[in-house]
Amino acid sequence: MTTNPSIAIIGGGPGGLMLARLLQQGGRAVILFERDAHAGERAQGGSLDLHAETGQRTMRLAGLEVEFIAAARPEDQGDRLYDSAGALVFDHDGAGHDRPEIDRTVLRDILLAALAPGTVRWGSPVEAIRPWGDGWEVVIDGAAQRFDIVIGADGAWSRVRPLLSDATPVYEGATLLELGFDVERHPQVDALTGHGKMFAAGDNRLLITQRNGAGHIRGYAGLRIPEATARTWQSMPVEAVRAQVLAEFAGWAPQLRALIAEGDALAVRPMTALPIGHRWTTRRGITLLGDAAHVMSPFSGEGVNLALADAADLAEALLSAEGWAAVTRYEAAMADRAAIAAKGAAEGLRLSISSDALGSVLEHYRERALA
Ligand SMILES: Cc1cc2nc3c(=O)[nH]c(=O)nc-3n(C[C@H](O)[C@H](O)[C@H](O)COP(=O)(O)OP(=O)(O)OC[C@H]3O[C@@H](n4cnc5c(N)ncnc54)[C@H](O)[C@@H]3O)c2cc1C
Repeated sequence: MTTNPSIAIIGGGPGGLMLARLLQQGGRAVILFERDAHAGERAQGGSLDLHAETGQRTMRLAGLEVEFIAAARPEDQGDRLYDSAGALVFDHDGAGHDRPEIDRTVLRDILLAALAPGTVRWGSPVEAIRPWGDGWEVVIDGAAQRFDIVIGADGAWSRVRPLLSDATPVYEGATLLELGFDVERHPQVDALTGHGKMFAAGDNRLLITQRNGAGHIRGYAGLRIPEATARTWQSMPVEAVRAQVLAEFAGWAPQLRALIAEGDALAVRPMTALPIGHRWTTRRGITLLGDAAHVMSPFSGEGVNLALADAADLAEALLSAEGWAAVTRYEAAMADRAAIAAKGAAEGLRLSISSDALGSVLEHYRERALA
């Protein structure tokens, strides 16, 4: 491998964009292939909280701390918990916590603005990666481009991962219907949510709302269904899924059922995860970061934080004079760190959508409030 290898990053989520930024800061040329046609093609999803030692640290390393602080919402770290009858059983405003929220779109815009013009090749869905000499061919639209190093930052269903591992994400038994609310049109959802996030839990069902920026609230209705049903729901019009989900919440308080009935139904999201502790035998010139390496359910709140921390550690390895041995060490440390979060996510999902979810979530919140 040359001292200034050509580098392709596949995927322009938070992990891939951050890696591109850090490599450019270190003086490396990099091309990032993203399948979306442009930055606004797809709704990017809800609010993310960045943790001090991972997400926030990486923003600092990337020289983007000022932009992050200006855009973040430290006032939105509260937690509320309701039972299925609509009684408030826990309310903590979260003031003083160090996990400020930021909308995913805003984070993406900050990262995009930090890249050299032309870095992101929009509308570039990678079809295949093939070994070529000492490097790799990236195939888009039937045409191959050659690189010394390819990084898979292409999320849960990565096209890069099969070159390193046979593992694929497995359904975890629960599915979320994603909902959107405009605060002005839904003052009752505004009032239920408070300053941050609310859970309503019980009887193997879960409702979540989470405050986003710009007068929006994101919601999720979660329940346990077989994988075949989840796949069917994904292929159905989302309005038809809403009716089925609403029927599953029969008996819940009217103000909670109204969340499902009145929100904009956005997407069906089956929860999937790679095996806890997923790792692979290193292969020179190709590696993974973020969800491509360790997708897990969002119930640990670590996904974006891990993706950003992976980008920081991988950039450091790629910029070191040591060569691929440093990347091999990155892979081992990244897999160890992700395994802890993946265990937490699996446990979080198991407890949050369970027959005893109210007691489990309450205990978790009380411990966190005291910490
Ligand atoms: C409902 C939900 C809620 C979540 N909530 C939270 C939360 O509160 N906190 C948190 O930390 N995490 C949360 N997560 C997880 C978090 O979104 C992910 O961990 C994080 O986005 C991973 O970043 P990434 O860059 O690795 O991958 P992604 O964000 O998945 O980005 C991958 C990118 O690759 C592109 N791509 C895919 N295939 C190709 C291809 N073949 N060619 C070119 N481009 C391709 C995609 O278009 C995408 O832009 C949540 C996830 C979900 C589903």
